[in-house]
Amino acid sequence: MEFHLKRVAEYIRRADTEELLDRVTIYRAGMEPAALDLMEGELDRRGLSPADIRAHDAQRRATAIFLPDGTALRCSFCDRPAIQQARGWHKLRLRAPFTSRSFNIALPLFPRLFAYCAIHLESPSPPLHTPDENPSNTEDQ
Ligand SMILES: [Zn+2]
Repeated sequence: MEFHLKRVAEYIRRADTEELLDRVTIYRAGMEPAALDLMEGELDRRGLSPADIRAHDAQRRATAIFLPDGTALRCSFCDRPAIQQARGWHKLRLRAPFTSRSFNIALPLFPRLFAYCAIHLESPSPPLHTPDENPSNTEDQ
């Protein structure tokens, strides 16, 4: 247990401030109490006050999508909270960088629901689309 906490403490010291703020606010319900203490201590060390943390919480709660367990839905492409969901294709990406004729294709396998944070909603990867859209609009570049 002590070894586990030591690894968590090292992770917290290296984590982005935004990530720590998300974990002590909208992801709080899924966090270990000991880890929360460490994260709040780290935020305090970085000069963030309880008012700063409450302001971050209020800002996130205004746009985040919440799950039945009380935590926020995560983006499908990063750890930020999702602000929108949309259907898209789960794709199998094939790359052959070592052949003379390189190719990079994505085969649509099945439709699924993706969750997008504010950053990935602006530049989605894979692109936002519905199964009905023209497939030529769905290529990554
Ligand atoms: Zn994201």
